[in-house]
Amino acid sequence: MTSPEYRIGLGHDRHRLVAGRKLLLGGVEVPFELGLDGHSDADVLLHAITDALLGAAGLGDIGDWFPNTDPQWAGADSTVFLQAALSAVKERGWQVVNLDCTIHAERPKLSPHKAAIKNNVARLLGVLEDQVNVKAKTGEKVGAVGRLEAIDADAVVLLGRSDTAN
Ligand code: MG
Repeated sequence: MTSPEYRIGLGHDRHRLVAGRKLLLGGVEVPFELGLDGHSDADVLLHAITDALLGAAGLGDIGDWFPNTDPQWAGADSTVFLQAALSAVKERGWQVVNLDCTIHAERPKLSPHKAAIKNNVARLLGVLEDQVNVKAKTGEKVGAVGRLEAIDADAVVLLGRSDTAN
């Protein structure tokens, strides 16, 4: 007999919007006059998803794995972080059941980009598109998001595995 085991993980991230940087969301470059600042490529959504994966498997956080003081990760492609977290999770027998995420951005308008972001995140995770959901919210013109100072992202991931020991 096998009984399925499940673990849930939560991720959150924020990066500052600045001039002269690309805006990468879920590995997709979104055209905008501002981009996200950070040590790596500052893909706020991939960072939140990476943290959710690590959290679900009890593996700490992205800062433990990829310190932002380490010159090795300067300008790093955040898909590398996601792939490393995914590999660590899979090595422990876990599979992604589903991912839900929210991007908080006053601008640019993300509705034209949500499908491409969802498609790319599903591809990166090696899951079907219907296992991934991407939502977008504005900051209602208040707070750091509303004042165009930052973009935030939240992610929740469910992992599952068959417990063959039982
Ligand atoms: Mg980050």
